Amino acid sequence: MTFAALSLIEPLLRTLERMAYVSPTPVQTQAIPAVLAGRDLMAAAQTGTGKTAGFALPLLQRLAGEIATVNANSVRILVLVPTRELAEQVHSSFREYGENLTVSTYAAYGGVSINPQMMKLRKGVDVLVATPGRLLDLYRQNAVKFSQVQTLVLDEADRMLDLGFSNELNAVFAALPKRRQTLLFSATFSDEIRAMAGKLLNNPLSIDISPRNTTVQRIKQWVIPVDKKRKTELFCHLLKVNRWGQVLVFVKTRKGVEQLVQTLQAKKVSADSIHGDKPQASRLQALESFKAGEVKILVATDVAARGLDIDDLPLVVNFDLPIVAEDYIHRIGRTGRAGADGEAISLVCADEVNMLAAIETLTKQTLVREEEPGFEPEHRVPMTNGAGQIIKKPKKLKVPKSSRGPSKGVPGNWVGFDAPIAKPRKSAGGRSAVVPARKATTKAR
Ligand code: AMP
Repeated sequence: MTFAALSLIEPLLRTLERMAYVSPTPVQTQAIPAVLAGRDLMAAAQTGTGKTAGFALPLLQRLAGEIATVNANSVRILVLVPTRELAEQVHSSFREYGENLTVSTYAAYGGVSINPQMMKLRKGVDVLVATPGRLLDLYRQNAVKFSQVQTLVLDEADRMLDLGFSNELNAVFAALPKRRQTLLFSATFSDEIRAMAGKLLNNPLSIDISPRNTTVQRIKQWVIPVDKKRKTELFCHLLKVNRWGQVLVFVKTRKGVEQLVQTLQAKKVSADSIHGDKPQASRLQALESFKAGEVKILVATDVAARGLDIDDLPLVVNFDLPIVAEDYIHRIGRTGRAGADGEAISLVCADEVNMLAAIETLTKQTLVREEEPGFEPEHRVPMTNGAGQIIKKPKKLKVPKSSRGPSKGVPGNWVGFDAPIAKPRKSAGGRSAVVPARKATTKAR
């Protein structure tokens, strides 16, 4: 399959050639003809599948084929995204794909002054990429009108709901023209997303590129059990012994992010951070330096988990597991993109076993555990069975003292002993790997 066979126009084909995109990805093969034909879409596509070009290319082509121009303060294509970083990224994709066309594009998001955005919107823009909160502010201040919107794109729709944008989204939907094309992209499809799709989409083409709620097969994933208080020490140790190059590290809290960055910087490791407390300019700066290879370790909260496209990122480390299991898929989706291999390591302490079980259930796998010599946890991480269940240590049967006989301490004194138990073994690499005794792990490291 070629891009030309998808009926893309010559200026777009020239750009794709320059970008060395040889053939369309599966999501592009399905989405491009449908979007060109004006159809609504409901697409389950994982990050890294090329979904941005899947909607940007045909939408640019449709704009280029129209004689009408955009009115003052108006927008023709509205793309809603959950985060500022994704807004910048999708905006730059539109700019790049549209380099041989005369199409105006702009990104508007919160955390920066609204006035320049209001000024910029005065003349109107063909493509506006925005986060829902800021878009609504702009709309309420009459800086943007929706009467000319012909296509609405919801990118990472599940994330927008997770971030609590549902009221803003509903307010925007209510203000949009009823006759329009709507494209909904989501990595995961909860009941809430399906309800939203049912309300917004008109006879959509459903595209399901990846099996629901799975991680990319090429990404090698494993868990290193460790005590909570030793996570930083373990991370620094792994960084040194494995001579890690570029690493994206996810930490649960903003404070935790800053503490890890400070520790790394004190060890003269170039590290920077991205989290919600940082001004937008320094977040973008940190991302750019990381992409350029000037910063080796980028430590982030889940604000950075979705949509960021970093070429050839070899490794993602979950310093803490995410509270929302779906975020695991998005976090590790920063690696193994566009056909490349990647690794995802999670440092897991006993407190996080419920999150681990939820991730394993969602991704339908039992993650391999590999203890790091010298960092074996004092507080064991209970075994999980890949079906969301934590295998509890069997309880001792309470037997009155007087009736205790010679059998004390043998398995006959335990109840509920039919669950598999943890059994340490030596892995090829010399590390002790812990696997459930009766259930083989499903994922090779
Ligand atoms: P996305 O899933 O849209 O974030 O895209 C992931 C990465 O794949 C980006 O770096 C794109 O530039 C790249 N990409 C998208 N489509 C293609 C293609 N057809 N051939 C090669 N790379 C692509």
